[in-house]
This record gives sequence, structure tokens and C-alpha cells, in this order.
Amino acid sequence: MEYYDLKNITLALYRSLLEEEEFRGYPHTGLVFQSYLKECDRDLRELVSWAESQEQRLTLRLVKGAYWEAESVIAPERSWPYPVYMNKYESDASFERSARFILENHRWFKLACASQNIRSVACVMELIERLKVPEGQYEYQVIYGMAEPLQKALVEMGLPVRVYTTVGSAIPGMAYLIRRLLENTARGSFLSALYVENRPIEELLVNPRERIEAVGTTREPQFGLSITPEKSPFRNEPLRDWNRTEYREQMFRALENVRKDFPCRVPLIIGGERVTTAETFRSINPANPEETVGIIAQATEDEAEAAVDAAREAFPQWRDVPPEKRANYLFRAAEVARIMRDELVALQVFEVGKSWIESDADVCEAIDYLEYYGRQMLRLGTSRSTMKIPGENNELFYEPRGVSVIIAPWNFPLAISTGMTSAALVTGNTVVYKPSSQSAVTGFMLYTLFSESGLPPGVLNFIPGPGSEIGDHLVDHPDVALIAFTGSKRVGLRIIEHASRTSEAADHVKHVTAEMGGKNAIIVDSDADLDEVVVGIIQSAYGYQGQKCSACSRLVVVQDIYEPLLERLKAAAESIVIGSPEDPESFVGPLIDKTAQKKVLDYIEIGRSEGRLHLIRGENKGKGFRVPITIFTDITSEHRLAREEIFGPVLAVLKVPTFKEALNTALMGDYALTGSVYSRSPAHIALALRQFRVGNLYVNRKCTGAMIGRQPFGGFKLSGLGSKAGGPDYLLHYMMPRTVTENTFRRGFAPPM
Ligand code: NAP
Repeated sequence: MEYYDLKNITLALYRSLLEEEEFRGYPHTGLVFQSYLKECDRDLRELVSWAESQEQRLTLRLVKGAYWEAESVIAPERSWPYPVYMNKYESDASFERSARFILENHRWFKLACASQNIRSVACVMELIERLKVPEGQYEYQVIYGMAEPLQKALVEMGLPVRVYTTVGSAIPGMAYLIRRLLENTARGSFLSALYVENRPIEELLVNPRERIEAVGTTREPQFGLSITPEKSPFRNEPLRDWNRTEYREQMFRALENVRKDFPCRVPLIIGGERVTTAETFRSINPANPEETVGIIAQATEDEAEAAVDAAREAFPQWRDVPPEKRANYLFRAAEVARIMRDELVALQVFEVGKSWIESDADVCEAIDYLEYYGRQMLRLGTSRSTMKIPGENNELFYEPRGVSVIIAPWNFPLAISTGMTSAALVTGNTVVYKPSSQSAVTGFMLYTLFSESGLPPGVLNFIPGPGSEIGDHLVDHPDVALIAFTGSKRVGLRIIEHASRTSEAADHVKHVTAEMGGKNAIIVDSDADLDEVVVGIIQSAYGYQGQKCSACSRLVVVQDIYEPLLERLKAAAESIVIGSPEDPESFVGPLIDKTAQKKVLDYIEIGRSEGRLHLIRGENKGKGFRVPITIFTDITSEHRLAREEIFGPVLAVLKVPTFKEALNTALMGDYALTGSVYSRSPAHIALALRQFRVGNLYVNRKCTGAMIGRQPFGGFKLSGLGSKAGGPDYLLHYMMPRTVTENTFRRGFAPPM
């Protein structure tokens, strides 16, 4: 109950246990309520109705709450409202309110008043008397060794006092006591106000409700990025809080509804027309390959040609649409995505085997791209005067390049497609969008978002089809000015090579943005905090089955911490739920297709021969394109497991003698996409900042999960050409700067500056 994330699920678990025949009516159980949570009143009301309906008596230990700082960091990180009151006096008022409620309902609740705040304790005493709460329905709880004068006073008054302390092993026990010590001595706490700040007792005893009336409440801080004065600051779309029952129920309904339409029939869209083809291909559910998610029209070179023609024809008009109007299409598409959110999330669960959390994050990222690039275009869309000099006017402005081909991967099927497509559109290019064949139904949803936003025909053309058959044709086409690609190194390098050849028929040189693979390392220093490290590695290595370009596939560990880390990592990996992506409990699902499955299984064999298998789990779990999650130790930098992108849940562990050696090891190889360092040494962190040269470096956190606007994303070396998706200069890749100079001196005078 201490952790907001687990509160609702704990309440639900508690109730369901006590509804079991075996425990029903058993009176000696209890829950902790934290009055600093804004939901405390609501939770109490719900609990009393439940207790009444079940005739269930229970103890409620009422505290203020120990993790204010943590809760007020976690919430804005996820763009969620603060679950806690902003001011200590609001929590104090909530404590008194909740105490009253619990005591009023003493028929069902026993109050355990756990506070060191004399005002709060006195209030409880007074309430007990006024409400004539019978003995046995309340007690006071105090921690051993803290606020001893209060403890003594309570005992001397003959009140029931429970003194508690930690028992068991030393480290968690000490950690608990230190947390309590921090809590009780935090700024704003009663004990610190009394003993450290020596505040007058009258002030300390003021009714917190009066403080609220006198001082008021504080609005929670709003974090956002001001990009342009024309629009509100950019904020990341809040991820779903799956702890909330209503969201879970909504999602189950969405899964059911989306499935009813399977197989979806997906046409091509060329010049605004729906085009069907003789040849089609199927998109299947990787967790259940017998289920067809969509039957998709398949473009050949002819349709690719027609799509480029349509985009070329639409270009001059679209180019001349004012940037703010173009940005509005993005903002409208974002609105449509919000309305369709559950459907979009559910579709990804089926089409690419993503868990709820990952699918939802992908849809949020897509919305973020629309909101972010829309704002960036408002910033870049007006022409700027350059240096001022008498007699001339110099203006710099940006223009689109022309017809853009967008070639997208399946692993972030909506987000990455939306990012590249919206960047091209908002900058005034027209688009031929080729989704990945594995996620073409989701690709069609991107077209839908824009068509719902009213985009004119021909501006966005949608042509699913095998990259190996239509890819070269699109890339080589003389009318194509820009290719935006995200995918593998192999295909990316091919596109770069093809695009560099300028045919006789072309009147321009092609521009390419290419985001490619990664072989990302997490470095664990000898003094790293293993609690954080283990969670970070599990999320980075096994989130979406390791099928993220940013995933951690190399773990470089300084030898002093090697053994304890591996032991804990194994235990954590053993606790992961492997199952169907439809099931919200599942953390690891299937790989995208049979080819990926075979590739990963082959690498597991290579791992067995190169190193030592430390963990293998989930070999026979469920249907679909499953592979086990694995950890291989005794891997060195020369091994294939340490060099090649595997794109699956295979983690290679490399042991090194020193932190410096860890950096050298992490830097080996062709890629430079993401990396992460866990260390508590300021000197080592400083060294990593200078030397760990990757596109996205993270310190003391996981290496996946970049957020638009906060962590512009993209790598270099063979991971990419250095562009940063979701960053302030990304749109510049889609435009060409022009300068116009006007001589204003010709009428014989220099105008005022
Ligand atoms: P992929 O096989 O390279 O495919 C990417 C796209 O290229 C697909 O639409 C594919 O079409 C198309 N394609 C295939 N052959 C082509 C050709 N000859 N010419 C033009 N296009 C062609 O990659 P993927 O399997 O979808 O995605 C996984 C890879 O993407 C990984 O390497 C991952 O690291 C990388 N990735 C990088 C980033 C980043 O930001 N750096 C982000 C996500 C993913 P078909 O589907 O029809 O084959």
C-alpha cells in the first residue's frame, strides 16, 4: 500500500481474499491508508460499503505516507496528475478527515493511528471521545526509538499503544528504519518543525483546515516544452494507468471489438482512391498464426509508379499550403488518435504481439510526434531575417523537398510511421508511405488518422507491398526527392547506396534519413544500486521480447559486482510472466514471425557454443512464434553474440576488470544507438558522459523508452545518419533552406533599421 502504483491492486486483492469462504468474517486483518493520497477519501468510502456488504471488520492503519518525493517524481514522468497533495498541511487535514471517517464507522473499522504529529494524535483522541468509540476499536502506533516523549505520554495516559520495530535481516530492516528517519525528519514534518526548526507550539497545533482556508492549496507544477507562442507547451501524452479498472475493462472490450473485424480488408490508397489488387497478402497474429488480422492489397511496381505520380501531382499545391494549416492537420490527426486510442492499442496487441503497456506507449508516441512536429513547424514555418545591414533585406526560410517515400518497420508500427510521415507532411512534402508487411493493418490506421483529419487526396498515398519487390523501384524513382527509412542496417545501407545514384531523368539529388539497428550495452559499475539495475536490465533486454532497436543485448559488468548481479538478475528473469500479449499480466510474448523465431533460436545455439547458458526460460510457453528468454555469460567482444543484432530476448554478459575497460568494451562494434551506465561514482559518470559515444546515453536508468521532446532519438556509426527523431532539428532533414536578398537601396535612401 506504500506505493501508489500498487494501491488499487492491493485493495482489490485484499477484498477478494476476504471474500473467500476460508477467510470470510475473520476480523484480524488490516490495511494501511495513506492520507497524503488524494484518493484516500474515495477509497475509504468504497471500503466501508464493501465492509458493510460483507459484514467484515478490519483494522485501518492510518499514516500520512512516506514516499511523497518519489510519487511526485513518478507522476510527471508519466504525464499523470499528482496522486499526492502538494502541501503537508493538506495531508494533515486529510489525515484528520480520514480518521474521523474511520472512527465514525467503528462498527467495521478499528483505527490504528500511526502519526508522530501531536496535533494529529490529539485530534484522534478528541474524536474518539466525541464519537464515543468503544475501547478495542482504536490504538496508537509508534515506531521504536522515535518521538519517545510522545510514546511515553500516550502510555501514561493509559491509551493502547503499539510500539513496532523491524525484525529479520539487517539490510532491509536498516533500509526501512532509514526511510522512516528520512520521512520523520523531512522538511515540513512535525518532528523536524518541533525539534530542528524549533517552531512555536501554537503554530504546530494550528488546525490544518484553517491553513488551507488561509493559505489555499497549490496547483501542481505543469511540465512542458514551450516550442512556439502560437500553441500551448508540448506535453507527452499520458500513458494509461493500467491500475485503474475502467481502463482495463475498456481494453478488454476493445480487444473483443477489434477482433470482430478480422480479417480486415486493407486497400491501397493512391490519389485519394481506394485501390484493390489481384494479389493480396496476409498479416497474422504472431501469438496465434492461424488468426488472420488483415488481408492486404499488395502493390506492385505499377502501383508504386502510380503512387509517386499522385504524390508528384499533389506536391505544388500542398507545398503552398501555409505551414500553420499543415500543422493543423497533425493536431487534428492527434485528436482522432485519442478518440481511437483503445482500438489502436488493441490492434497492435494482435498484429505485432505487443503487450498492453508497450502498445499503449507506441500509440502515445504517435500522438506525441503529431503534437511535437506540428509545433516545431509553427516555429520553423515563418521566414527569418538574417543579419541586418542598411540597404538590403535578407530572409531565410525553408521549403519542402518534394515527393517523399516513407519506409517503416513493424516494431513501432504506429509511432515510427507517424513520426516520419507527419514530419514529411508538415514540412510540405507529399508522401508515398510503405508500411512494413508485418504491420500493414496498423499502417492503414495511420492513413485513416490523416484522412479523418481531412488531408487532401494525393498528399498521402498508402502502398503496402513487399519491400524486396517495390523498395528499389521507389528508391530509384527519379521523381522521388527524399527517402525516410527506419529498419535494419542491411536494408538501410542498400537504400543509401541506391539513393546516391542520380539517374539521367532526375533533376535533383536524393536526400536520405536512415535510422538503423543497434547492439546496445548496459554497463554496470561495481558500486551500482542493484535494485535499480536489475529492473532496468529486465525492461531493456526483454521488453517487447528484445525487439526494440534500443534494447539492451550486451551487459558489461565490472567483476566486483558480477556474482551478486547475475544471481539477482536470474531470479528476476525467472519471475517474468511469459504469455499471450492479450493478457495484461504477460510481459514477454511472441516474436514477430517465423523467420525472427528461427534467427533467435539459431543465435541461442551460437550462444551455447560461444559462452555459458546462465538462464533459459519459457521454452514451451504458449502458441505462436515463441522463443525462450536467455542469459549467456562468459561472452567476449569477439563473439558473435556480442557483435550482431539479434533482435530477440537474448542477453550476452561480458565480465570486465575495471570501469574503463567496461567503456572500451561497450564501444566495440559497428553500432552507436543507445547505451546505459549504472554507477554511483561521479568520476565514472563523468567519464561515461565524455567517452560512451552513442546516440542516446542514459545514466542510472534503462536504455529503452525515449520520449519525444525529452530524449530526441537516433544513432550514428552504422546505426544511422545522425538524425534525431522527436528533436528540435529533425524537420530540417525534410526541407531545404532558401535565402532571398532584396536590395532596398534602389530608391536612393537607406530605410530605417
Ligand atoms: P527491415 O527488414 O529493414 O524492414 C524495414 C522496412 O524496409 C520494411 O517496410 C520493409 O518492407 C522495407 N524493405 C525491405 N527490403 C527493402 C528494400 N530492398 N528496399 C526498400 N525497403 C525495403 O527492418 P524491420 O525488420 O522491419 O525492423 C527491424 C530493424 O529496424 C532492426 O534492425 C531495428 O534495429 C531497426 N530499427 C531501428 C530504429 C531506429 O530508430 N534506429 C527503430 C526501429 C527499428 P517489408 O516489411 O515489406 O519487408
